[in-house]
Amino acid sequence: MSSIVSPLRLLLLGAPGSGKGTQTSKLLKRFPSINSLSSGDVLRSQIALNSPIGQEASGYIKMGRLVPDSTMVQLITSQLQQKNWLHSDATWLLDGFPRTAPQAQALNVILSESNANINMVVELDVDQSVILERIEARWVHLPSGRVYSLDYNPPKVPFKDDITGESLSKRDDDTAEVFQKRLDQYNSEIEPLKRFYEAQGTLHKISGNTSDIIFPKLETLILENFGK
Ligand code: ATP
Ligand code: MG
Repeated sequence: MSSIVSPLRLLLLGAPGSGKGTQTSKLLKRFPSINSLSSGDVLRSQIALNSPIGQEASGYIKMGRLVPDSTMVQLITSQLQQKNWLHSDATWLLDGFPRTAPQAQALNVILSESNANINMVVELDVDQSVILERIEARWVHLPSGRVYSLDYNPPKVPFKDDITGESLSKRDDDTAEVFQKRLDQYNSEIEPLKRFYEAQGTLHKISGNTSDIIFPKLETLILENFGK
């Protein structure tokens, strides 16, 4: 089976519930050289720790609003440093950050200095009516960010994480009302963000209403550009 042979630094874009977390899990399984970082998971673990950033973030997240750009840039930059991801050989995947054009600009400066720019951006394009239908079925393992759907990707044991056996939970912001706000927020930020990466020549789009349709296309795209 073919594998990744040159450093891939991938950003997944997509509406809330479009399956970024699911695609990430599949990619990590398929390509063991990839490591991933999800801004939502980082924020949720800060909230669980009740850290100052967690306290600041939780109010925004509950309302379905974005955490301020400056907080996000600081938080994620320090994660990138801690993980030793700021060098030209690094292979990684970001999910959920950057998600505004100012975040993308700020990150671009930091990554350019380290010769570690994002070299592929993929927008997961899923019908928003489909997303709204399936969000109710979503359960997550909060410590790891693993995502399950009671409909099409159920855990092996009901309401338990496949790997740790710990309980799954619903995200507080996955209620119908907050979820619609998150979708609206996404729709208002995404165009400038896409233009930014389009100008860099890294933007791709994959359409499909299930993860099983999207994943093979994503795998092919990665292998065409970074594989052998
Ligand atoms: P999904 O996890 O279903 O793809 P999502 O992308 O909306 O949906 P997360 O990425 O888990 O969800 O983020 C949850 C919340 O955390 C967001 O609604 C927002 O409040 C905050 N957040 C996450 N990433 C960022 C970011 N880059 N900038 C600002 N706020 C963020
Ligand atoms: Mg997510």
